[in-house]
Amino acid sequence: MSKKQGMSYIASTYGVGSPGRGNARGGDGIHACDTAPTAPADPADLNSAIIDTTASLIIVLDPRGRIVSFNKACERASGYTFAEAAARANYEFLLDATEVEKVRTAFNRINAGEFPSAHENDWIARDGTRRHIVWSTSAVVDERGEVRLIVGCGNDITERRQIELKLRESEERYALAVRGANDGIWDWDLRADTLHTSDRWKAMLGANDEEIGTVPDDWFSRIHPEDLPRFRAALDQHIEGKSPHVEIEHRMRHRSGLWRWYLVRGLAIRDAAGKAYRVAGSLTDVNDRKAVEDQLVREALYDSLTGLGNRVLIQNRLQHALARARRNEDFKFAVLFLDLDRFKIINDGLGHLVGDQLLVELSKRLRTCVRPADTVARLGGDEFIILLEDLREEGDAVRVAERVHELLKTPFALGENEIFSSASIGIAPGSPRYRNVQDLLRDADAAMYRAKALGKSRHEIFDEALHEKAMETLQLETDLRHAVERGEFFPAFQPIVSLIDGSLQGFEALVRWRHPDRGMVSPATFIPVMEETGLIVPLGAWMLRVSCLTLARWRQRFPALAHVGISINVSGKQFARGDLAGDVAAALAESGLPPDCLTLEITESVMMSNSEQAAQTLRRLREHGVSIHVDDFGVGYSSLAQLHRFPIDALKIDRAFVSRIAKTIDAKDEVARDSSLVRTIISLARNLGLGVTAEGIETAEQLEYLRQLRCELGQGYLFSKPLAEKEMEALLAGGLPWGMASRKAG
Ligand code: C2E
Ligand code: CA
Ligand code: CA
Repeated sequence: MSKKQGMSYIASTYGVGSPGRGNARGGDGIHACDTAPTAPADPADLNSAIIDTTASLIIVLDPRGRIVSFNKACERASGYTFAEAAARANYEFLLDATEVEKVRTAFNRINAGEFPSAHENDWIARDGTRRHIVWSTSAVVDERGEVRLIVGCGNDITERRQIELKLRESEERYALAVRGANDGIWDWDLRADTLHTSDRWKAMLGANDEEIGTVPDDWFSRIHPEDLPRFRAALDQHIEGKSPHVEIEHRMRHRSGLWRWYLVRGLAIRDAAGKAYRVAGSLTDVNDRKAVEDQLVREALYDSLTGLGNRVLIQNRLQHALARARRNEDFKFAVLFLDLDRFKIINDGLGHLVGDQLLVELSKRLRTCVRPADTVARLGGDEFIILLEDLREEGDAVRVAERVHELLKTPFALGENEIFSSASIGIAPGSPRYRNVQDLLRDADAAMYRAKALGKSRHEIFDEALHEKAMETLQLETDLRHAVERGEFFPAFQPIVSLIDGSLQGFEALVRWRHPDRGMVSPATFIPVMEETGLIVPLGAWMLRVSCLTLARWRQRFPALAHVGISINVSGKQFARGDLAGDVAAALAESGLPPDCLTLEITESVMMSNSEQAAQTLRRLREHGVSIHVDDFGVGYSSLAQLHRFPIDALKIDRAFVSRIAKTIDAKDEVARDSSLVRTIISLARNLGLGVTAEGIETAEQLEYLRQLRCELGQGYLFSKPLAEKEMEALLAGGLPWGMASRKAG
């Protein structure tokens, strides 16, 4: 029997060999092949050929277990040739040590005439790898019934096993998710390029069986074009073995026509060579979660009223622009700081609803002024930031500002109101010299302030002069911090006098700062900076304390001051950030002053912009006997309703109105109007049961006028400038009361 011939024959029969190939060798098989390919010449050859070409393992043992026959498949699976295997004492060298006993028992039973059904056992191949084989066994029995040969026919299922194992792993992994989350299932056969999707998968798209067939494109064509490249990349990467699994979110068109978000998970199944031939996984509808996520992002980065970016977003974009400018010299950008003029009047006069509408409409207009790549954001209130990127030249930013002014010339139609608005705009050209976003915004802000100061409804570009001013402010800030530590502050006191009889009624405490180099610095310069930085809170508490202590000392030293009080200015920041009630209580306790000799002065703007909580703090203080006066009355826009909300005792007429009495006293035609404002405030106060103090009385004429209107209290240079403790003591020692009208102190 010639194995070679048999092999040739089978090969020819199945059409693998070439027609002329048989000529290479002689023999019956060849001959048969050439003449009658479908009829073998020798049945024994044929059997041998079949045995050697079959994928099944065929092994024949004698009753002692020695290998008698071992086909090619056995050779391939074990790595031993037939000759090597036959040379061994028995077949056990092929077995895994743990299985020797099991197989021996089976072998003995076969020898005893029993034929166990199919069983599995592992072979350990020559190279140490483990082959998993399913066997069915039969025996050749002689005429006396003795077993002569045992024939095993086996199938090497190692590969299949591995695949099954992987499949089971992946299936188990997904089974959980599927059961729990009601997910859809997909299974893509890469070889056949067919896609199987579960009913649930289809239902999630609102589709039915006919609409989604077995072509992968039934899926891919539904994916949002923006998501498709990402999706394909994720799949390809995993198929190529570069990622452990597929996990990607993408949008698909739902049958309703809307895009919905889905989460796709998948795992490839690979053959022994590691090549993927199937990818399967799940599909989850994550649209609701996505919507919530989007909402969160929107809330974190966008202004809820106007839909524009918010402070966080613009800071982020500015950061990027700065980084870009540092990397690339040619990149030009600019920041526009925009503040509406007189927004407060609209807001207070027509109500917040109209104010909000105006901001919304303005936002729409602002967006039309810029290119899509630019950013418009709302910082808060009526403050907006525009970031212009990729500018050709600085002039571009100015042109945008001009366009904004132009667009504001058209009135806003808000309900029944037609509102004209204008804006002041500060422009800060971007530059890599900026260390951070704050500096950039600060400069745009400074330019905006100059635009306001120069008459509003205009724009200003940040330049060197402004830069110097900004640096000064920065220096001032640093100096102020040291001033607190070094005790450079002290209080000055200005007398408050009865305009009726000239008696001293109290003092207003005013903070003074003696700068080590610059000398006296005006509160008008440093108070705004202290408010900005929050330094005003500890300073305010300190002023309360030292002013009360000073008055307490004076009351002991000058008996005539027994009923004199002290007025202290309170900043809005002290409500928001400080503990005003606590500070007041501490100052009164330490000085031993009764609460009714303490007056707190709050400005109209503080009253207006502060919350119910501020009103409540004041109400509590007032219940304890502390008086509340409204400072600078008349310059703000407080309505009567707002006056009512706060517990107040008196109004202080702003110096601006008092000084106008003096100027217009000769210009007859204007007298009526200007003096009537003072008159109006006084009669308003009287109607509300409030006291009135006039500030900044400098001339006898002003005093006379105010007396005629029966204004009760006044202060001003006419009586005395604010004086430091020792100076005031000298003045007090000179005797009381203040002489009326004639005296010019200072
Ligand atoms: P204010 O509360 O309106 O104080 C009155 C201001 O008018 C004082 O200015 C005072 O010196 C000035 N003044 C008084 N009489 C006359 C006058 O006849 N003619 C003129 N031309 N001016 C007069 P000052 O001291 O420069 O204070 C400015 C502002 O700084 C104050 O205005 C107040 O708002 C704030 N301020 C001063 N001290 C404090 C403080 O301790 N705490 C707080 N929060 N603010 C303070
Ligand atoms: Ca005051
Ligand atoms: Ca004032």
